[in-house]
Amino acid sequence: MATVKEFSVEEKLSSLVNLQKIDSKLDEIRILKGELPMEVADLEDEIQGLYARQTRIEEEINGVTEFINQRKEAIKEAEALVKKYEKQSENVKNNREFEAINKEIEMQQLEVKLAEKHIKDANEEIAEKAITLEKAKKNIGMKEGVLASKKSELEKIIAANEQEETQYLKQAEAARAAVDPRLLASYEKIRTNYRNGLAVVPVERDACGGCFYAIPPQKQSEIRQHKKVMVCENCGRILVDEELNNNIEI
Ligand SMILES: [Zn+2]
Repeated sequence: MATVKEFSVEEKLSSLVNLQKIDSKLDEIRILKGELPMEVADLEDEIQGLYARQTRIEEEINGVTEFINQRKEAIKEAEALVKKYEKQSENVKNNREFEAINKEIEMQQLEVKLAEKHIKDANEEIAEKAITLEKAKKNIGMKEGVLASKKSELEKIIAANEQEETQYLKQAEAARAAVDPRLLASYEKIRTNYRNGLAVVPVERDACGGCFYAIPPQKQSEIRQHKKVMVCENCGRILVDEELNNNIEI
């Protein structure tokens, strides 16, 4: 044991802060990359859904158009019947027959009016659907624009950070090796407990830089003395003074 190199608390804390700063850089890169692919995937799903909606509206318009054509056919048939009955009425033998034919003509004329009303309503429906369709198409165009820019943003981030990430990974490996093993174990454990990955934080404005819990002056002075490793009693993070923290640049 005597040959093992003993580090001072200050050295231990310094190498820990160094590691934290490198790990935080790597976390940043991961976050940058981690959100964009999800956003891109979400947008792709959304656009697919919008296209399905567009197709549905188009099919609905086709359906209504078909209905209009059917009603137009019905009008033609009814008008042909009216003509036929009018011709028949020229050769009626008695009043009763005349009345019966007239009734038929009236029925067919009513049929025409009804079909015309249906066509008018259907045309209004198509006009409404056409507006919805236009809006849907515009929305798709807009989303596709956003998707394209997100995709290129992601590609840029990947390209821009690849070098940096490789460099930080190398640095982190070296920094990790320099940290006292027991301290490293606690550091890793604390890091996994917090989403922002901060395990070592400076005291800032008289408070823990991780949870903002107030640190009493007595404790702050102990932290500055670097006699032992101090932790925040609220969040358990390792505390260092601002000066030590600021002195370490990566
Ligand atoms: Zn805290």
